Amino acid sequence: LKLNKVSLKWQLFSVIIAFGLSIIIVFCIFQIFLLDKVYRRTKIKQTKELMNELYTIIDQADVAELKNNDSSLSKEITSLVKNLEADVFVIKKEQIPPSNPQDVPNVEYLCIFPSSDMVDFNKKININLSDTFNQIDKVAKPMFVVSNDEEHEFFHQQISDSEKIIKNNDIIYCERVELSDKSDSYMIILYSRITPVDPAINTLKTQLLYITIIVLAMSVLVAFFISRKISKPLINMNKEALKLGHGNYDLVFNGTGFSEINDLNETLNYAIKELKKTETLKRELIANVSHDLRTPLTLISGYAEMLRDFPEENTKENLQIIIDETSRLKNLVSDLLILSKITAGTENFNMQSFNLTTCIKEIVDRQQKFIEHLNFKIDFKYDEVVYINGDPSKIAQVIYNFLTNAINYSGDSKIVEVWQVVTDSDVTIKFKDYGIGIKKEDLEYVWKRYYRVDKAHTRSTQGTGLGLSIIKEILDYHHFSYGVSSVENEGSVFWFKAKREK
Ligand code: ADP
Repeated sequence: LKLNKVSLKWQLFSVIIAFGLSIIIVFCIFQIFLLDKVYRRTKIKQTKELMNELYTIIDQADVAELKNNDSSLSKEITSLVKNLEADVFVIKKEQIPPSNPQDVPNVEYLCIFPSSDMVDFNKKININLSDTFNQIDKVAKPMFVVSNDEEHEFFHQQISDSEKIIKNNDIIYCERVELSDKSDSYMIILYSRITPVDPAINTLKTQLLYITIIVLAMSVLVAFFISRKISKPLINMNKEALKLGHGNYDLVFNGTGFSEINDLNETLNYAIKELKKTETLKRELIANVSHDLRTPLTLISGYAEMLRDFPEENTKENLQIIIDETSRLKNLVSDLLILSKITAGTENFNMQSFNLTTCIKEIVDRQQKFIEHLNFKIDFKYDEVVYINGDPSKIAQVIYNFLTNAINYSGDSKIVEVWQVVTDSDVTIKFKDYGIGIKKEDLEYVWKRYYRVDKAHTRSTQGTGLGLSIIKEILDYHHFSYGVSSVENEGSVFWFKAKREK
């Protein structure tokens, strides 16, 4: 099952459920499996801390004060001990019977805290006291003692391995202490009991079952609402967008929900605007191209048939019409070809340093000769010869197209001026005509493919609607800047600017 085939709703749903379940699993691990260990460790740590506190209080204390339940010292110890639910015994060494403590049912202790809890010492603390005392003397530091009830055998040892205490439910912690009578032989025994956590764990297990059910139910609800909120606008937008495929561009996307949806709205609306423009251009193109192709083809076939049927009509003029129309077709086809090659990136640009001024001069002279009989004048003004880096034939095409447009749209004025303006680093070539000009609102569109100001384009204008877009593609490739300024019925100035080669 591929993830991108699963709907957003189900993906969200599974993620939320997985999240819920993982929380439950973590909870289980901590509560059911680690609870006992954590609890025991904490208890042992607290016991050690308590012993530290007790030691600082009891060491060098007055024996009488310790014995007196109402003394402030006793009260302080009692309150410390009560917090941990522990018992504290202070024993004098001489009070401890030697060897086997089983023979000694009752050990006399100096004091017990909490004092109200007058427990039977031996019942609580099942260890060999004299051994413990000797051990503490030997190691000279506090010591955990393990009692082993099952075998009814007293033993003790210093615990380095805390696992042993962890398994044992009695925590017995002993430390030697000195009191005011300087007998040097007192021992504090701190006793606390670890209550088994099994009943708590059982309760937790039941609770966890309920929690799991509740979390799952909540996940389903949350997933349902979130996915609805996220996927609904997307589904709606998708439905709308499908209409685009059928060519319906009269849509406005206005899905709501979150900022990404708003961004998507904007993008889609922008895309529709662009698609609309392209669509309009495409329609115009089909109209233009089919008109451009059909008219010369009709003329060619008409004249050819006439020449076949009426040999006496085989005049120079009639043949010239066929030749003119063929070249018009050729221009259109070659323009289309150049443009598609450049935009597709398959056209090769042969970049080199070349003489721009001479290049312009040659084209101007050629064109001048071509239209001389119409009393047309092209004036090329330049002060020096300039070199630029570029593809000479492509730049020649640019100059040729600018010039042809200037001639085609110069109306009755029949004057076209070409200027070469140089600075230290740049050269600007301007093509000025005094013809029909271009309306302000049309100016930004003239560089677009197939765009023609005169939509009905009469046959008096020779263009294909591709001249300026070919110029644009070539100049963009060269990173040359270009532009146009025009006043309707007064004329236009088209220009491009290139870096000079030294
Ligand atoms: P065309 O082959 O129709 O000339 P172009 O891409 O060269 O196509 O130009 C696009 C449109 O820009 C032309 O149809 C024309 O309306 C306008 N145009 C271009 N050059 C001039 C100019 N020198 N004077 C007025 N209009 C111009």
